[in-house]
Amino acid sequence: MNADNSGRVAEISAALDSVRSRLTAACAAAGRPASAVTLLPVTKFFPASDARILYELGCREFGESREQEAIAKVAEFAAAAAGGAIDGADPVRWHMIGQLQRNKARSVAKWAYAIHSVDSARLADALDRAALDALSAGDRAAPLRVLIQVSLDADPTRGGIALDELAALAARIETADGLELAGLMAVPPLGSDADEQFARLHEVHRSVLESHPHAVELSAGMTGDLEAAVRHGSTCVRVGTALLGSRPVISK
Ligand SMILES: *Cc1c(COP(=O)(O)O)cnc(C)c1O
Repeated sequence: MNADNSGRVAEISAALDSVRSRLTAACAAAGRPASAVTLLPVTKFFPASDARILYELGCREFGESREQEAIAKVAEFAAAAAGGAIDGADPVRWHMIGQLQRNKARSVAKWAYAIHSVDSARLADALDRAALDALSAGDRAAPLRVLIQVSLDADPTRGGIALDELAALAARIETADGLELAGLMAVPPLGSDADEQFARLHEVHRSVLESHPHAVELSAGMTGDLEAAVRHGSTCVRVGTALLGSRPVISK
């Protein structure tokens, strides 16, 4: 790492220590082993150089929510690995965590290890076709891991599938050869009670596990509510702000 970014390295290193401590404490308080919950650093809006710093600090998985931005960062990482600047033998896994349009499926299937935000049969079908093509072209080595985003407030503009359509979508993904059903994801509505929301999500996850026992991932919890998510079965917290700072506010 070069000297001129040492300030940023120190900043991110301290933030990572603090988030890891929060996570360890949250697991202990919930009576769960620390290994039960993965930290997924969210690098959206921040440069590839910040992801590189997190990589040097031991992170190997990153979350991105905007397709265009993600492609550029993935390419930068691939170039650094090819040039020997990072250890290419220990590759990075990129997770798509944001709302995704079907016309981006082909691109995402080439770079994403997992998608946390699948919320319709049409999107699942497009991703299945794209993943199968990427597999046969050698652009990916394994099926695309899919988490179904669940709507906790039935507001379709926020993304997520309604609870009464969840079982059908899970069954459909299960039969798709290009996809692997990994679990569920949700983002509680703003201003809601996180404990209440995550408790409901946990119940929903339990019922999905009855029919799909390998769908063990529960992607829940962010900077503001990771403790509540860990209390209610989260296996993956997606953390941006607490690691990298505030993002510019964008309107939807
Ligand atoms: C941006 C984003 C996050 C990270 O949120 P923070 O509050 O910054 O930790 C988590 N999940 C999703 C889906 C996001 O888009």
